[in-house]
Amino acid sequence: MIDDPAILTGTVLSGAHGIFDVYTEDGIVRCTLRGKLKKAFAQAQSAKAASKSRSRPDKSQPTSSRTERIEKRDSSENPLPIRLSVGDHVKLRRLDASTGLIEEILPRQSALVRKDAGSTAKKVMQQTLLANLDQVVIVLAAAQPEPHFGLLDRYLAISESARLQVLICLNKVDLPHNIHIEELAAAYSKLGYRVLWTSTQTNQGVEELRSLLKEHTSLFSGPSGVGKSSLVNALEPGMAIRTGMVSDVTGKGKHTTTGSQLYPLSEGGWLADSAGIRALAAWNIPAEELAWCFVEFRPYLGECFYSDCVHVDEEGCAILQAMQDGVIEERRHRSYVRMYTGEER
Ligand code: GDP
Ligand code: ZN
Repeated sequence: MIDDPAILTGTVLSGAHGIFDVYTEDGIVRCTLRGKLKKAFAQAQSAKAASKSRSRPDKSQPTSSRTERIEKRDSSENPLPIRLSVGDHVKLRRLDASTGLIEEILPRQSALVRKDAGSTAKKVMQQTLLANLDQVVIVLAAAQPEPHFGLLDRYLAISESARLQVLICLNKVDLPHNIHIEELAAAYSKLGYRVLWTSTQTNQGVEELRSLLKEHTSLFSGPSGVGKSSLVNALEPGMAIRTGMVSDVTGKGKHTTTGSQLYPLSEGGWLADSAGIRALAAWNIPAEELAWCFVEFRPYLGECFYSDCVHVDEEGCAILQAMQDGVIEERRHRSYVRMYTGEER
């Protein structure tokens, strides 16, 4: 089988109505599912529907607060069959120059899921929006608009919760900016985050950004006006419109589809479009997981006097102590409290 020249591996870029565009080393192949896989999906769907109608809603999990999440899977327990989704790696049999049959879905590393529109409190229908996403590029501007580091903390916490690798991109470095911003950025490097200074005017950092996207499926996020679409276009001319990242005055560049798509970068790697960005922005972090999403808090978790400490203002809190000792920044703790109390969660 391995030597069979008609068998290729590839990545699903988009799919609708049972037809999938798969990117392979030999170009894009338009595929359908092999009969057997289709049948297996149909069986899994009806089994799922039957078990759902029997199971009771779990009261300990507020369904409304967990609309989006990434499920980390151990590939050894990957329960096939799964519904094929954008981002999946597949094996396919080529039929002719441009068409093929998908024969096998390779194990997923992650799945960004979202609740389907028809969901109710009792019945949650989930759909995998994107498989194998592994990196988020958080873009802020050094100036115009001034960076909002509380917002960065929120994006970082979401990325940690979703188990995504993070790249912080401080764009518009060509503009005069406050020296204070460099100190703040350095504090994030100290936490272990990669901070990249870029400019779409001078092209500073663009080559480095391109190389950091190579091995990954990445998603750009960040407030509007910071230069996300300009950066994506600097990486690959015309790409911002294709990914729906451009919000021009006419709105013509915008995607209206609900499904996600992936776009191959010519030097390697994949970019997820704005559907993925919206899904991640709507992410809710379970309250009990929030402290873990602040990376520098991790060594202190489990060290507080009260085992149910939420690290806001309790006596004997190891995180508050670390803050008093100057190990944890007050500013980061404030971001945590804002998110914990629901002001920004
Ligand atoms: P988005 O909303 O994050 O996608 O931001 P845009 O890419 O639409 O950029 C917003 C504005 O910032 C536009 O007027 C861009 O020309 C400008 N811009 C983007 N990148 C840079 C940069 O590196 N330097 C400067 N000076 N302006 C930039
Ligand atoms: Zn505590």
